[in-house]
Amino acid sequence: NAEAAPQAAQPFLRIEGVSKRFGTFEAVKKVNLDIRKGEIFGLLGGSGCGKTTLLRMLAGFEVPTEGRIFLDGQDLGAVPPWDRPVHMMFQSYALFPHMTVEKNVGYGLKHEKMSDAERRDRVRAMLDLVKLTEFAQRKPHQISGGQRQRVALARALARQPKLLLLDEPLAALDKKLREHTQFELMSIQDRTGVTFIVVTHDQEEAMTLSNRIAVMDRGVVKQVGSPTEIYEYPKSRFVAGFIGSITTFAGRVAEIHGQTSKVEIADLRMVIEARSIPGLGVGQDVTVALRPEKIRLTRHEHQGPNVIAGQVHDIAYFGKDSLYRITLPTGAMISVHAVNAHRTGEWAASWEDPVWLSFDPASAILLTE
Ligand code: ATP
Repeated sequence: NAEAAPQAAQPFLRIEGVSKRFGTFEAVKKVNLDIRKGEIFGLLGGSGCGKTTLLRMLAGFEVPTEGRIFLDGQDLGAVPPWDRPVHMMFQSYALFPHMTVEKNVGYGLKHEKMSDAERRDRVRAMLDLVKLTEFAQRKPHQISGGQRQRVALARALARQPKLLLLDEPLAALDKKLREHTQFELMSIQDRTGVTFIVVTHDQEEAMTLSNRIAVMDRGVVKQVGSPTEIYEYPKSRFVAGFIGSITTFAGRVAEIHGQTSKVEIADLRMVIEARSIPGLGVGQDVTVALRPEKIRLTRHEHQGPNVIAGQVHDIAYFGKDSLYRITLPTGAMISVHAVNAHRTGEWAASWEDPVWLSFDPASAILLTE
């Protein structure tokens, strides 16, 4: 991903205290988001968390129960969907089956004040942008799924929106095509400079595509940040577990020494040294979260903090690496992701082996929520 790319000072899109209720059910709860011009912003969350509802409010298909939305300084409250400089690309693409690719792309320009020549040029430029020039005369059923996705994208971009909303843009594609299409989407966004908001429930997709991500849970934005910030510095158990996998231990803060804190883990009958977080207090209940790839697996006990004895319970082999599940003396299970030994020349653990786990204090994440 291109995290460092766009840097605009003032928010381009401001979502201010936006809520949406359907009857008594609150689908979106007091969401505040500032989105920068020219960024790909990911809205990530599980099914039913309110992502699509939020997107539909930006498009104007739903009216917020409370809150306001500003785009480029303009309050969108009184602006109907067709007058908003916002376009939405639907998951189903919603192409007209009886129209050629070219006609589909030009459809949105029908009511624009422009000459026929200008319209033709615009369509040509869009087809060129999505590399579909040679398919201009085909109908949607005569092209592949990936190509249909590009037609929908070209049609959405043809009217030169300020904001493009993409609802699960890659969901209809198979895994291989999805990876390729992610990079294509990023390149098209880069060339047009249009601000993209991408809704997805797929965390890898959100991480790859987005400059920044908002992670949502039950209508609430839990955290906003770059993919690295979200992965390395999650603020809650929900976010830590939603992006990547974690093993957690309940603990209590025993000592705080600047960068690291000591946390008593009753279950393990040991003290773990973890990376301090702001606002931490001695005696506070916390959760220590560990990522499988941050844990080292060795055959011999060694010195240092954060060393735990265990036994290999099972191994899932993935080729270049393996996922080990290790039983701890307490009966708890912990996952360890290790590069396979035949690639590093090191010892390979096998079932039932006694092993030692260790990790740096900096990679032990403290969570208070
Ligand atoms: P998914 O990934 O499954 O599409 P989502 O995060 O996009 O989920 P939304 O479609 O925004 O979720 O829906 C959020 C919640 O609001 C859901 O519980 C849904 O049932 C509810 N909801 C959405 N639209 C309506 C509606 N028109 N009337 C009543 N409830 C609704």
